[in-house]
Formats: sequence, structure tokens, C-alpha cells
Amino acid sequence: MPDLPPLREVIAKHGLSASKALGQNFLFDAQLLDRIAAIPGNLSGQAVLEIGPGPGGLTRALLKAGARVTAIEMDKRCLPALAELAEAYPGQLRVIEGDALKLDHGELMGGEPFAIVANLPYNVGTALFTRWLGGEQWPPQWTSLTLMFQLEVAQRIVAEPGSGAYGRLAVLAQWRSAAKLAMKVHRSAFTPPPKVMSAIVHVTPAAMPEGVSARVLERLTEAAFGQRRKMLRQSLKGVPGALEALGKLGIDETRRAETLGVDDFVAVARVLS
Ligand code: SAM
Repeated sequence: MPDLPPLREVIAKHGLSASKALGQNFLFDAQLLDRIAAIPGNLSGQAVLEIGPGPGGLTRALLKAGARVTAIEMDKRCLPALAELAEAYPGQLRVIEGDALKLDHGELMGGEPFAIVANLPYNVGTALFTRWLGGEQWPPQWTSLTLMFQLEVAQRIVAEPGSGAYGRLAVLAQWRSAAKLAMKVHRSAFTPPPKVMSAIVHVTPAAMPEGVSARVLERLTEAAFGQRRKMLRQSLKGVPGALEALGKLGIDETRRAETLGVDDFVAVARVLS
């Protein structure tokens, strides 16, 4: 194992004070980082896409686990520290400077399957999450997502019907994937500590239900949860054929969106697709 300087030294050496604008909250605890890197399973020899490596704490743990890491970072200040890490693990780390929202990840990974691991700011994390889980192509090129979110967002992703947290994110994450809350992370683990608690969500692709268009399902959940307090007969009024589909499936149109299971949404989308 290469003998690396402590992360706090790396930060001081390269002047990497955390930028609020870039949503930077760094993790330094090597044991915690090893536990996070273990969530996707055995990474030895596996291709991993890490978004937002920052000074490289999580990157170190991934490299230690034997992963071949491609890391996308948009903060230029972090590049020299990451270059040192690439030198310490020859041939194992490729750093791409850029905005992950603007890059084609599949192309970047040269068409090979890869695991995604990231500790990202809230807005970027959810935008990428919906992108990775959306679209008609399934199974996706990624084999798993291991992502840090605010605890409240993580709870929305794994939520079950009937709970206040259940909504579009839950249906998106569960209709053709398995999503679980893998680990809670206390705010004090970060430097600087964010205002809220965090958690890591782990998602793996499952079978795509037959005869369902992802676009139709997304439109349906958008309408249903857009007015979540309303009965379905009101919230789905604007979705052509939706009320007829409810009738056909024996789903009472006076129910509200949050009482329908993921399977119910899939069944309605199948009738509409
Ligand atoms: N992975 C490091 C860790 O766990 O200590 C840093 C985490 S910090 C919360 C998020 C990182 O994502 C920062 O380094 C930030 O510069 C980077 N970042 C933010 N938006 C990004 C984007 N759109 N594309 C690539 N990197 C981004």
C-alpha cells in the first residue's frame, strides 16, 4: 500500500479550503471511507466512476480496494492532489476535469460495465440520480450506484407507500431497481460539517417490467405526485387514458398517489404504454 500523507496535510499543501459554491464537505476518516468503498462489494479490478473526488479521500479507499477509478472533478484546485494519488497508484486512476452533468458517462467508460460511487452536493446528486435511473435503455451500463445524500433525500428514495416520504423518487428508484439505505453518516464526519445528516444509498438494477415505457411512467408519477394531496381522479385528469386505466385495473380513483404501490404505478403505465 503506498505511504500517503494525511488528507489534512494534502489539503493544506494545495490550499483546498472547502468551497460552499461547489458544495464541498470533505470526508477524512479512513475507516469510514473504507466502509463506504466496501458497499458496492468486491471492487478488485472493477471499473468505478467516481464523481467529485475533491482532495481524494474516497478515491483513496476505492484505489485501496483495487478498483480502476475514473474520477470526474470540476474544481481545478483539486487536480494536483489527485495527480499525486494517480502517481501513487500507477495505472489505477484516471482524472477527468469537467462537469459531470455535461459528460456522457457510458462513453467515458469505453462501453464497459462500471460501478458508480459519489459523495456529491445535493442538487448535482439528485440531477445525476434521475438521469442514471431514467431513460428507456435497461439494464444500464452501470452495475450499481453508491451515493451520499442528505438523509431526508435518502429516505425519499427508499420510501414505502403510505409514508410522507414516498413519491416520485421512490417510484423512480424502485420500479426496476433495488434501492436500500446502506449507511447513515453523521454530519460531524464531514469537514466542514453540513447542517443536516447524510446517508448512503445503494442501488442495483433489477429486471425491467415488460411492456412499460419509462417515459410514460415518469409522466404518470409527475402528474400523480405533482398534486399529491388530491385524489387521483383530479391529479391524473391531464394524463390521457389514465382514469380509464385505473378503472380497468380496479384502482379506486378517489385514492391519493401516495397510497399506490410501485407495482400499481407500473401496472397503470403498462396500460398506457
Ligand atoms: N469525494 C470527496 C469526499 O468525499 O471528501 C469530496 C466530496 S464534496 C461533497 C463534492 C465534490 O464534488 C467537490 O470536490 C466538488 O468540487 C465536486 N463537484 C461538485 N459538482 C460537480 C460536478 N457537477 N461535476 C464534477 N464534480 C463536481
